[in-house]
Amino acid sequence: MSVLTASGHPLQRAGAWAVAVMAGRADPEEVSAGDLEAVAAVLVADVVAAGTASKDSGRYDWWKVLFALYPNSKATHSKRPSEAAVLRPAIEELFAPDSAGTAASWPCTFCGAGAGVVWSKSNLPLFDTSKALNNLPPKLAGWPVCRGCRVAVWALPYGAWVTAGSATVLSCESPTAEREFARRNVRRARMVMQAGFTGLMAAAKPERVVLAALRNAGSGLCASTLWSFKNDNQEPWLRVTRARRAVPVFLAMVDGNAGLRRGWRLLCGSLNQYDAAGTLVAGGQGVAARLLFEAEDGRSRPLLGQVHRLLSDTDEAWPLADRRALGSLAFTYAKEVFGMDTDVEPVAQVLAEWIAQGTSPRGRLAEYRNAALNDYQLGTLLVQAHFRLQLDGSAVALAGPEAWKPLIRRQSRSWELRMLLFARVCELLQERGVAVSAGRSGRGPDEGTEDEDRPPFAAGGDEDGYDEYELEGV
Ligand SMILES: [Zn+2]
Repeated sequence: MSVLTASGHPLQRAGAWAVAVMAGRADPEEVSAGDLEAVAAVLVADVVAAGTASKDSGRYDWWKVLFALYPNSKATHSKRPSEAAVLRPAIEELFAPDSAGTAASWPCTFCGAGAGVVWSKSNLPLFDTSKALNNLPPKLAGWPVCRGCRVAVWALPYGAWVTAGSATVLSCESPTAEREFARRNVRRARMVMQAGFTGLMAAAKPERVVLAALRNAGSGLCASTLWSFKNDNQEPWLRVTRARRAVPVFLAMVDGNAGLRRGWRLLCGSLNQYDAAGTLVAGGQGVAARLLFEAEDGRSRPLLGQVHRLLSDTDEAWPLADRRALGSLAFTYAKEVFGMDTDVEPVAQVLAEWIAQGTSPRGRLAEYRNAALNDYQLGTLLVQAHFRLQLDGSAVALAGPEAWKPLIRRQSRSWELRMLLFARVCELLQERGVAVSAGRSGRGPDEGTEDEDRPPFAAGGDEDGYDEYELEGV
């Protein structure tokens, strides 16, 4: 019988994958009793080292991670012993085999296997206090947890993307991607223990690691959910974001198409954030990866909105190839991820013709720019443009009200369609030599084209990624 199961609980599941990775097994179910013993020994050694570390060491940063997850445990309590030899037995006890007398007394809270130990909130992230009796199994002073799950719950920080105050885990329809996410994080955990968080660049983001994991796993349609949380004594929080099932397909398309890769790089480049001293504080690749995840509470930034912001920026004179690359990135995303297949081309042709033919194209463009995202105003403008072109006997095939309909109704994805329309109109105008922005580009001529052959979602240059993109000065 297997000693470890990856359950449906996202935190236990992430821990189970970490145990499998640490034991060198392909799957949590393959972890043997001996493997579990060995991983428990590693946990004890790391926890004791962190709990007794001096405040200026990397090991102390690992203590901060443990404190964010298990703030009232024996490893993190402010009155914990400062001597390793004194702390160790208390930590060893956490992962000890069930005693003969109580073994398999209750079904494990996570996996249902026989459990002989009952744990309280102090050892379980995001669980209620044992005083909240209503949430507990009857007549128990805590939650029964089997040995495999006890080890998994404390292996969680190895399989999660951690910061000094929070952790993020992945649930995904692809077990290969889940394992890959855990594998990268286990490596990263070792780096935190060795060098602390200051040794890692703040620029990286868990979403970027997910993209790299999905890419390496070669996933087709596959939904991903990220659970980020802090188990603070005062203000615990949980944030859930999801990437749609078609995101891996979109990533594969970007990977395989030079124009889309160029668009993705331009998007990433625009999202680099620097502090006043010019130091990179948030890498654009991580921020761009985050745009592919939608928050449950609706408070997330959409990718199409960001591309629109770039393309409508009047201070930015995009070279035509860059404008096309960004536009095609937006169209591909809308089609692949949202399944949008409305053809905006006929309407875009009408608007571009009307703007270009005006005595002041600049004035008409400004008029369109103001109306572009508003359903009613865009409708009014289309009526005006349509009749003007008709009166002038324009040679352009005039797309009539039937073609405008999806753009000017208040329905799902109409707003996104209007953004795509705007992107295409500007592209057509620029092709015709109409100036679509007043500004001068601040970008060098080659930006966005460098490194075009490198896959954009690999987390870094080497096989695993971290060495190149995460460690400062490497
Ligand atoms: Zn269990």
